[in-house]
Order: sequence, then structure tokens, then C-alpha cells
Amino acid sequence: MIQKGNFLLLEISEFRPWLQKQKVTRRIKGLQVHHTGSPNYTTRKMVNGVAQQDHFKCLEGMRDYHINTNKWIATGQHLTLFEDGKIGVSLDRDLNMTPACIYNNNAGYVGIEIIGCFDKGVDTMTAVQKQAGIHMYAVLCEKFYVPVNTDKIVYHGWYTASGTRLSDYTPGKSSKSCPGTGYWGDGNTIAAANKNFLPQVRAELERLRNGNANTKPKDDEQMTEAEKLQMTTLEKTVKQQADWIKAEKAKANMECPFWAKAAYEYYKDYISDTTGSYDFWRQLVINYRKDNNIKVSK
Ligand SMILES: [Zn+2]
Repeated sequence: MIQKGNFLLLEISEFRPWLQKQKVTRRIKGLQVHHTGSPNYTTRKMVNGVAQQDHFKCLEGMRDYHINTNKWIATGQHLTLFEDGKIGVSLDRDLNMTPACIYNNNAGYVGIEIIGCFDKGVDTMTAVQKQAGIHMYAVLCEKFYVPVNTDKIVYHGWYTASGTRLSDYTPGKSSKSCPGTGYWGDGNTIAAANKNFLPQVRAELERLRNGNANTKPKDDEQMTEAEKLQMTTLEKTVKQQADWIKAEKAKANMECPFWAKAAYEYYKDYISDTTGSYDFWRQLVINYRKDNNIKVSK
């Protein structure tokens, strides 16, 4: 693990332990897939599969472009995957910040750039980068409970320039061909994603989970049937309590519910906040009925 300037450079083997330690309070709903286009294998000065350009120089170059040309506040992406399987972590775009990678579709996503131009006939992804990519996406899915499917792991090319999700990559409608018309050797369509890339990520995630599970079974086997039942009941109770607390919290600070919309419209000049407790909205509706002499039929 090396830190220099605005980036951290991780060996692929360091990624999982590093990510597991990160405290991410932003809710992550999905992962983006991008290729950098430029930089690519040519600008990285690849000689016999080994890039001659320094990793940090490449990362700082992207950051410089994002800040000085695009006028963004920081590097657009959170993570950058190199051709040799190393991962660049943007220290100026920590995981609690929304990325700047797909116009209007960044909230809740992790922004990931894969170094290369994977349009047909340009760069062919190295085996090391592929392996690292599978592991990286699986580790992110594990950490953030992201399901491995095309709703949650999304290619840039599935969106228009204004951020509308398309049913598939559509030349002429898609904002870009990113992550490349030859991405993963299969292309950038939904079918291509489902052919090799996502199944490979799924298999790796399974492998990671089984690896963890292997440290547990002994304890399970030593438990009696009664203890197992007790454990299941306890787990259920804990989950019920957690659900109840979550529901109560949501009720204490809710946006105007549909049944209070008319009342809110009527009083909105007197209300400073758009959220309130369930009881607040209920009381508002009662006042509204009183003011307008609307009786409730029973
Ligand atoms: Zn992209």
C-alpha cells in the first residue's frame, strides 16, 4: 500500500482488508462500470504487457483533467483499476462522497474506472486486470450488499447524456460506448454483461462468502437442537426490534404523506419544514378539516 499525493495505490490482495475497514455512512445501492478511454494502454506506454508510466502520474493526470478542465471539485471516480491489477483509491473522492461519473445517476453509486480503451479493436484487457476486476467488484458487492445484476452493476453506456436509463446500450442514444464495445471480450450490452462478467463476479462473491463460512461450521455442529432453536428465535427477535426501530425513526421524520398533501398545500405558507412526524401530519389534516368544515363520515 503506497500513498502519494492525492491517491493510495493498493495491491489487489490489499483491497478486501482495506475496504472492510472503511466506514461508509452513505447508502450504497450500486456500482458503476467505466473504462477510462484515455488514459489507455497506449498512453500507459505498455511494453510487453508492462506499463512504463508511473501509476501516480496517471492518476494525478486524470485528477488534473477533472478539476481543471471539467471544473469538478475532485477526481470523478472513487477507484481506478490498472492493467497490472493494482487499484488506485482517490483520497479526494472518499467513498462517502457521491462520484461524478454518470450524469444525473451518481447518488448511491461507487464510481469505478478501468484503465484502458475497450472499444472493439483498441485495447484487449490483460488477464491480470480481468482477474482483479472480478475480485474488486465481488469485494464491493460483499461490503455493500449489492446484488450482482444489471440493475445494480451498471455500464455507463446504458444511460443517455441526460441520465435516462435505457433498456440496453443503444448507439446514437447512449451517452458513450463506455466501458467499451469490446468490454470483457463480449461487449457493452446487457446480454454481454450477463454472459461472462457478472457470472464471474457472482462466482467470486460466492467463493469469498464460502471462505468466510469455513471458519464457522464447527460451532454450529456443536450446538444442540434446542440451542439452535433458541438461536433462531433470538435472531428473529433482534431483527423484529431492528425493523421496529427503523419504522419508528422513519415515522418521526417523514416527508409529507399523500393523505396530508391537501392540508400541507393549505398551510404551507406557515410551515418552515417539509418533514415532520406521523402525528404532526395527522394533526395537520384534522386542523385542515376543521378550518374547511370537512366532516369525516363514519
Ligand atoms: Zn464512463
